[in-house]
Amino acid sequence: MAPRHPENLLEVLLKQCYLQPRCAAGQRRPLHVSRYTTQAAHEYHKPDSFAVLGGGISGLASAFYLSKKHPDKKITLYEQSSRVGGWVQSKKVDVGDGSIVFEEGPRTLRCTMPNGMVALDLIRQLGLENEILRTKKDAIAARNRFIYYPDHLVRVPGPGSSFFSILSAVIREPVFRESFTSILREPFKTVPSAAGEDESVGSFLERYTSTVLVNNLVSPLLHGIYAGDVWKLSVNSIFPMLPFLERTHGGLLPGALDLLFSSEKPALERDTDLIQHLLQEQPTLRGQLLEMKDTSVFTLKGGLGSLVTRLEEVLQQNKNVVIRKDAQIEALELNRTMDTIQLTTNLKDEPKPNHAFAISTLPAQTLAKLAPELDSLNDVHSVTVMIVSLFFNNPNVLPANGFGYLIPQSIPLEQNPERALGVVFDSDAAPGVDTAKGTKVTVMLGGHWWDDFSSYPDEEEGMRMARTVLARHLGIVDEPIANNVRLLKNCLPQYTVGHQARLGRTHRDLQTSFRGRLRVAGNSYGGVGINDCIRSAYDVAMLPTEGSYFDTYTGLNNLGPNPQWVKFKMVKRQVQVNTVTK
Ligand SMILES: Cc1cc2nc3c(=O)[nH]c(=O)nc-3n(C[C@H](O)[C@H](O)[C@H](O)COP(=O)(O)OP(=O)(O)OC[C@H]3O[C@@H](n4cnc5c(N)ncnc54)[C@H](O)[C@@H]3O)c2cc1C
Repeated sequence: MAPRHPENLLEVLLKQCYLQPRCAAGQRRPLHVSRYTTQAAHEYHKPDSFAVLGGGISGLASAFYLSKKHPDKKITLYEQSSRVGGWVQSKKVDVGDGSIVFEEGPRTLRCTMPNGMVALDLIRQLGLENEILRTKKDAIAARNRFIYYPDHLVRVPGPGSSFFSILSAVIREPVFRESFTSILREPFKTVPSAAGEDESVGSFLERYTSTVLVNNLVSPLLHGIYAGDVWKLSVNSIFPMLPFLERTHGGLLPGALDLLFSSEKPALERDTDLIQHLLQEQPTLRGQLLEMKDTSVFTLKGGLGSLVTRLEEVLQQNKNVVIRKDAQIEALELNRTMDTIQLTTNLKDEPKPNHAFAISTLPAQTLAKLAPELDSLNDVHSVTVMIVSLFFNNPNVLPANGFGYLIPQSIPLEQNPERALGVVFDSDAAPGVDTAKGTKVTVMLGGHWWDDFSSYPDEEEGMRMARTVLARHLGIVDEPIANNVRLLKNCLPQYTVGHQARLGRTHRDLQTSFRGRLRVAGNSYGGVGINDCIRSAYDVAMLPTEGSYFDTYTGLNNLGPNPQWVKFKMVKRQVQVNTVTK
């Protein structure tokens, strides 16, 4: 993409080449500047005010972290709708003997490392730690996760399953067809010469298992997280550890054995950096993490909406932060003087705002439309999902208890005409959120199945489809006493093959066209989970906003191709990074 100010291209390129010796492609930060550096090498520019574009969880968290890091700076958050929170929304409904909460977007968080650490720390900083509702690892929801195949629920073996129960399931259930032959063939697999090049999760794992196993066992997992197609989503972006193990060990089995038995574990350098930084900055976090050791997933009293409500409250109490609702960004550009970002908004009776820095948490395709320099982001498309939640006053309406079930791509559409992705058993998955007695479930429809649709079912049709799914799969014909149907258009970005390369190009386009004054965070880049969004907000807000290198930071510095891997081990409760591996 050509920069808007070509006379400065040489200067920008020189900076990329000489100030970043480790990253010819502009992917790596300078050797001697930590990503979490608070002191810049020397003063370069005094920023004036900051803008955060988009008021979903990523935007709210970005504004929160910016306000902590720069308590003296004015921060304006622009949100196009009349509420903040984006996809995070919890709706409380009173029913007879109590109340229930319908989650319209995310419902649980995982205690994953390291992004879950950041989320947990944010919850603590917001004073919400006593609001956490945990689902423990020995709870029924953690032990029982199902796949629907071909016409019944199959429990997926997990931690705690005995060897004999796994063996018996693998022998009996058609969903595990070809498991044995895949294991026997594994040692004879040859690693392709192009190992490391991006490919779909499906084609990567097909090498080690079979088409049938990928469709039966892996596709449902990706339905549950991305509502996406296993044959299109990128293995390098979604499961980077798999190609890394293949590359370094010549195959998955030796890689997995090394992972199990070696005291040094491989990890992305950006993750070990973050863990070291967090443990240093927040010594109490270690204790908090230990408390969550036996937790599978968690939510908050009142639902995950409590998180965005509290963030909004805290930001509103800060006199330096302004939240502008109903404020849509229509365009953004680097000012002619190159020291501010100028926004065009729908607030036509106000002068165009100028900010020294802007963090965009807008969906990638929206950003590409507002800033045509970032045209690589046009390819980060999102899928549409309909969620239908139903509450039955019968507490025993489910034929089995657990987290819920996912439907694999191997179920032909004639047997899945509603294009259902799966069903969450909310009452089991997040117990304690509702005070009314009964059973709450959520049917998820659409996702990649609707990619070529030009129109979607309305609420009435969605409800009919969900009830048909529940009747056919679970035999539930009871009348729900409350329900909630929501069509979530373009809600989940798809990291399709080539995602890292697109982010690499966008990183360079941001550097050349916006010179460090526009940075990005949010679910379009390094992960769609709430934990990932909060971590991306933390990362981008912690980046230096002044100093020699501030203009090389974009929020995508470490998300392009060929990320840096390290090996680490815990020594005296400290993370020790030992070997840098390629
Ligand atoms: C159905 C569903 C279930 C999910 N379940 C889980 C789960 O259980 N656990 C989990 O961890 N994650 C889950 N996720 C993922 C997670 O909820 C999302 O990835 C996350 O909420 C995205 O947050 P965000 O702030 O990055 O983006 P968004 O929520 O999309 O926020 C972007 C904001 O920008 C605003 N905006 C857009 N354009 C403009 C403009 N031009 N000007 C101003 N503002 C604009 C939007 O109105 C929006 O408020 C789920 C997602 C969905 C959809």
